[in-house]
Amino acid sequence: MPTDFYELLDVSRDADAATIKAAYRKLALKHHPDRNRDDPDAEDTFKRLNEAYAVLSDPEKRARYDRYGEADPGVGMGGAANGDIFDIFASVFGAGFATGGSRTGPTRGQPGEDLEARLTITLEQARAGASVPLSVERMTRCDRCDGDQTEPGKEGRTTCTTCGGVGQVRQQAQSLFGTVMTQRACPRCRGAGSVVTDPCTACSGRGRNLRKDTIEVTLPEGIDGGYRLRVPGEGNAGVDGGPDGDLYVYLDLAPHEHFVRDGDDLRYPLEIGPAQAALGSSFEVPTLDGPEVLEVPAGTQHGTEFRLRGKGMPRLRRSGHGDQIVTVHVSVPKRLSRKAREALQAYAEAVGEPIHEKETLLDRIKDVFQKRKRKREEEPDDKVEA
Ligand SMILES: [Zn+2]
Ligand SMILES: [Zn+2]
Repeated sequence: MPTDFYELLDVSRDADAATIKAAYRKLALKHHPDRNRDDPDAEDTFKRLNEAYAVLSDPEKRARYDRYGEADPGVGMGGAANGDIFDIFASVFGAGFATGGSRTGPTRGQPGEDLEARLTITLEQARAGASVPLSVERMTRCDRCDGDQTEPGKEGRTTCTTCGGVGQVRQQAQSLFGTVMTQRACPRCRGAGSVVTDPCTACSGRGRNLRKDTIEVTLPEGIDGGYRLRVPGEGNAGVDGGPDGDLYVYLDLAPHEHFVRDGDDLRYPLEIGPAQAALGSSFEVPTLDGPEVLEVPAGTQHGTEFRLRGKGMPRLRRSGHGDQIVTVHVSVPKRLSRKAREALQAYAEAVGEPIHEKETLLDRIKDVFQKRKRKREEEPDDKVEA
């Protein structure tokens, strides 16, 4: 088999895309493993053809291959799984033709189920991208039989009579090449080739047991409540060689003693008195980095916002941080000491902000009303003429 991709596809080095595709179609059909069941090298040849086509049909990869050959890491399949090889075939011939018996292969075992869990995280953990322990109840590989399902020290298994120990059964199927024989996993032994006769006493032959485990969930920096994280391989264990399931973790953000999260920003309410708002003052405010000094200038109004740049949360999967937004709440005292009351009365007098008692105000209104009435009675003619 030639190693050069151009030689392999039997095209010249300046062949255009259509020529390369046509050459690939011809050779891929000829060497497809479904057609060459008696040739043990067919799958390798087919794989190699697909590698060649994957590179030469991609202008960027082809240019790199022309310059550096297969040594370039950007070229080639990099140990691609068989599935990818058939994906290339499917991309040229259309899906539906890719599923040859050799693609399915000897599927062994049952995959473990995916699991779901909830996890409450703190603002500090979300900020740091912390590793948070999570307790999960899941099916784990049996310690006694190591997932083998059989009692240790005993024969344990006998050859499956349905498939004769091969683990696969052959069947006829229609494909691009007409009727072909395909293989699939034996329905009785699920591809194992044998059935359990002495089941493990710890797991009753299931190969796994329910157990409470603690796993570490690593948070991405800046993550928030409401997100779902996938933890690969931490679901239920697979059975009989099948892959383990995944764990999906739904996140909740715990309330914080100081801050309310608003996207990447953190909101902090700062309660100050009327005198502080009017006169201005410095305040110590908490941030996630520790306390900071905030200058509130004289004449600050209720509801004024101050931004502490970059003191918010790290932006998820981006660079930079949000801000901390400090909102001023001017709080009016509900009770006053005698001294404070006198001081406020003196202040009111100084700024001409009259403080009325209800009775005096009513008297005043009455007084004004009567004066007007008297005035009308004294000058009735003027009023009519006017
Ligand atoms: Zn067991
Ligand atoms: Zn079988």
